[in-house]
Amino acid sequence: MSRERTLSIIKPDAVRAGNIGNIIARFEREGLAIAGARKCQLSQAEAEGFYAEHSARGFFGELVAFMTSGPVVVMVLEGDDAIVRNRTIMGATNPANAAEGTLRKLYAASVGENAVHGSDSPASAAREIAYFFRAIELS
Ligand code: GDP
Repeated sequence: MSRERTLSIIKPDAVRAGNIGNIIARFEREGLAIAGARKCQLSQAEAEGFYAEHSARGFFGELVAFMTSGPVVVMVLEGDDAIVRNRTIMGATNPANAAEGTLRKLYAASVGENAVHGSDSPASAAREIAYFFRAIELS
C-alpha cells in the first residue's frame, strides 16, 4: 500500500444535480481525504488541454462541450492507494456497466455524462494535479 494523491473532478452533470456533497461525503467515508478543492468553470481551451489524449476520438467535441457546460469541482484526493481506490469508487466509464453502489451507478446518466473523473495512473495523477493545483494549495 502506498500513500497517493489523485485528481478527481465532479463533472457538470453531478454539480447541476446537487450531488457535490454526496460525492465528497462518499470519498471521506471511504478514507480519501480532500487535499485541495476548487469549484470552477472550465474554458474550452482548459477542457481541451485536460483531455488532450482523447483529441483524436470521435466524441472529443461532445466531451469538451459537456465539460464546459457548467461549473465543475476539481479536487485532489489523498489516501492509501488513492488512484485505484478512487477508480473503484467511481465505477466503469459507462454507468450501464458500473457496479452497484459506485458513484457512476448512483449519479451518472450516460457514458458521456458520467458524474466524475479520476486519474487512471500515477503518471496521469501527477500531470492532472499539476494542471489544476500549485503545491502550495494542497495540504
Ligand atoms: P474514464 O477514465 O473512465 O473517464 O474514461 P475514458 O478515459 O475512456 O474517457 C474519458 C471521458 O470521455 C469519459 O469519462 C466520458 O466523459 C467521455 N467519453 C468516453 N467515451 C465516450 C463516448 O463514447 N461518448 C461520449 N460522448 N463521451 C465519452
